[in-house]
Amino acid sequence: DRIVSGEAQELEEWEERSLRPQTLAQYIGQEAVKANLTVFIQAAKMREESLDHVLLYGPPGLGKTTLSMIIANEMGVNLRTTSGPAIERPGDLAAILTALEPGDVLFIDEIHRLNRSVEEVLYPAMEDFCLDIVIGKGPSARSVRLDLPPFTLVGATTRAGMLSAPLRDRFGVVSRLQYYTEAELAEIVERTAEVMDVPIIRDAGYEIARRSRGTPRIANRLLRRVRDFAQVRGNGEVDLEVAQQGLELLMVDQLGLDEIDHKLLLAVIEKFRGGPVGLDTIAATIGEEAHTIEDVYEPYLLQIGFIQRTPRGRVVTPQAYKHLHLEVPES
Ligand code: ADP
Repeated sequence: DRIVSGEAQELEEWEERSLRPQTLAQYIGQEAVKANLTVFIQAAKMREESLDHVLLYGPPGLGKTTLSMIIANEMGVNLRTTSGPAIERPGDLAAILTALEPGDVLFIDEIHRLNRSVEEVLYPAMEDFCLDIVIGKGPSARSVRLDLPPFTLVGATTRAGMLSAPLRDRFGVVSRLQYYTEAELAEIVERTAEVMDVPIIRDAGYEIARRSRGTPRIANRLLRRVRDFAQVRGNGEVDLEVAQQGLELLMVDQLGLDEIDHKLLLAVIEKFRGGPVGLDTIAATIGEEAHTIEDVYEPYLLQIGFIQRTPRGRVVTPQAYKHLHLEVPES
């Protein structure tokens, strides 16, 4: 498991639960999303209606699951959590929907991975709060319409582009989560340290924030590892020196890049003079699947402008050369 991965890792979930903010006020950053949700939640409560369906999209680890919990909490209703791949058959979804209480929030993570037949059950459920069930088989089969309690679907996806249009259109609120700024991440680190009862110096919080790739999950993970380092090597307090040394040992550089990022950049620089080079060629060179590079390794490098996508392939930018202390080649 990569330490700088935004995906949740095994054994982490329990610890994450205690770190999750409970209210919108405690949820740091994402100001536009929060401002919208605050209004919609208040309006729904004033009308005593369920909140409109909400689609949250953005890279892993930015707080989609956390936000779904906060929405349920702020609405004062129950939360039921599941995921696209977990709902295999239409009947599975029907069972979940019929067990909801009025106003409840149903959170479906990885909603782009719902299969077609399940998705079709969701359309009338979202639109009219009802289920169309087919009873019997063959010529005697008939369709029965079943009413559902009003509920709020909160869908989360890392790939909004992979959602079918009819599903996307049924969400009243569509919010994109952004990568967090350094200051926001430093605030998150400080809050997490407080919850974990770890003394931390401000500079150290910023140091961790800088290397967290804009992602709260990574910030919290780095803090946990640095805390261990502070306990073993120091007096338990996380100061700048301890943070820097710990992060060096974890091989997370000043910008949050790890060996895999370095390997990818160096392969393009050394074997292809910085590109342009096709994705498949890079994949073959570093021994990875092309789609893994595209989905997992590349997004952050693109985000910080170290790689550019051109029609002729990937190009490593001068900023990346500078970061790696390499001379930028003439044109
Ligand atoms: P996602 O569902 O997008 O993968 P999560 O909601 O599981 O992300 O968040 C990952 C971790 O980051 C959680 O442990 C949560 O405590 C923390 N986190 C995410 N967003 C925030 C935020 N805005 N403020 C504080 N902590 C956050």
